[in-house]
Amino acid sequence: NRYGSRLLMAAPLLPGMAGAAGASAGAGSAGSMAGAAASDGFLSGLLGNPLFSAGFGLLGVGTALAVARSGMRQLIMYARKSILISVEIPSRDKSFGWFMEWASMKEGKNVQHVSVETNFTQFENGEIKTRTQLIPSTGKHWIEYKGRYIQVERTREKNVVDMTSGSLWETITLTTVGRDRAIFEELLEESRVYCMRKEEGTTVIYTSGGGDWRRFGFPRKKRPIHSVILTNGQSERIQKDAVEFLQSAQWYIDRGIPYRRGYLLYGPPGTGKSSYIMALAGSLNLNICIISLQSKGINDDTLNHLLNIAPQRSILLLEDIDVAMQRGMSGVTLSGLLNALDGVAATEGGGRLVFMTTNHIDKLPPVLIRPGRVDVRECLDLATPEMVRFMFEKFYPGEGKGPWGDKFVDSLEGTKPSMAQLQGYMMQYKEDPKLAVESVEILRQTIRGQ
Ligand code: ADP
Repeated sequence: NRYGSRLLMAAPLLPGMAGAAGASAGAGSAGSMAGAAASDGFLSGLLGNPLFSAGFGLLGVGTALAVARSGMRQLIMYARKSILISVEIPSRDKSFGWFMEWASMKEGKNVQHVSVETNFTQFENGEIKTRTQLIPSTGKHWIEYKGRYIQVERTREKNVVDMTSGSLWETITLTTVGRDRAIFEELLEESRVYCMRKEEGTTVIYTSGGGDWRRFGFPRKKRPIHSVILTNGQSERIQKDAVEFLQSAQWYIDRGIPYRRGYLLYGPPGTGKSSYIMALAGSLNLNICIISLQSKGINDDTLNHLLNIAPQRSILLLEDIDVAMQRGMSGVTLSGLLNALDGVAATEGGGRLVFMTTNHIDKLPPVLIRPGRVDVRECLDLATPEMVRFMFEKFYPGEGKGPWGDKFVDSLEGTKPSMAQLQGYMMQYKEDPKLAVESVEILRQTIRGQ
């Protein structure tokens, strides 16, 4: 009757197991029937026993509580599912930065626990700018948005590093009551628009680092394209070509041609190659991704990867390509570079502009600059007298065509200054065109010394 008693004991305690116990009872022998009859008496005996009844009662209460607890948990989970909605934003997603920026502006004052984020940029002239922002720290916060309370939970993984930023992997989870996710869409859109508007009128620079693209410093104010003085309608020519290219998506699609265009700007240092590309990016509302082929850790594979994942709406810029191609200067081989360039494709939307600059076009392997890789090439040269006059006018408005402008242009006859040299010189006489003319010998010496 071992089976029988087990059956009887099990039944009231764990009703769900009765079947199983029954099955094992059934698997017993014919003796189990007799055992069942005997255990009837055993049961009434037990129930008559006050100690057993009390214990049994307690067990019952415990069971009921456990059932209630798990029921409650399920109810909460169900309620969560049906009355709460949430959205998860991983740190790798662009919305993460937008939301943080927006939250620190809009709700920063209401959030009690904040962390500090400091951006630090050092400019070419040595000037340093820092910007400190208070952003919601890890943990839970509440914000109010359009009359609704939203819980913001910021969590940080301990061991997972986000390769893009080099910081620990993070997630923000927004939770609120309701069924309509539109509230999140509106909130994320508002933060996107807020950040975009802040960046309007600026050019964002990305640099390659750690196999990924990183923002370099703050977005820079757009440089007006006419502030870069070129000659013979060069500026207009390049600009027109780029605009036409960006409007010809269908032409490329129809012909199955990769939607990209290559430009090479070459010429002596300080003639405005980099400045022009920056200004052009601004005028086309594009950002710039600078690929440094000499940087550590870059090889054929990483280059290919980088070109493929470059941020949308950006110009790819390979600077001083001749230096990079010198043996031993880069982990990238010529064939690796050619492969990577040929593989460049715009992943969505507008086409991809690839710019290369060099001071020595003659040092470039012809395969690198053949049509298809370089479709447009322009030489940015040392200043002509006309360009000298433009520069003078830029510094001293109204004076370019006046007597001081004439004198300045004449005094530089026979010299070939770079625009950077002219700019550097005039910076010293910002307010005084007369002094700039009178001291021109200093500039002539600089030019001779080049
Ligand atoms: P590059 O890339 O040809 O070496 P940069 O664009 O770096 O030259 O120019 C260096 C500096 O000289 C910049 O501050 C830029 O403003 C000035 N500069 C160079 N060329 C020009 C130009 N054509 N017009 C106006 N400024 C110029």
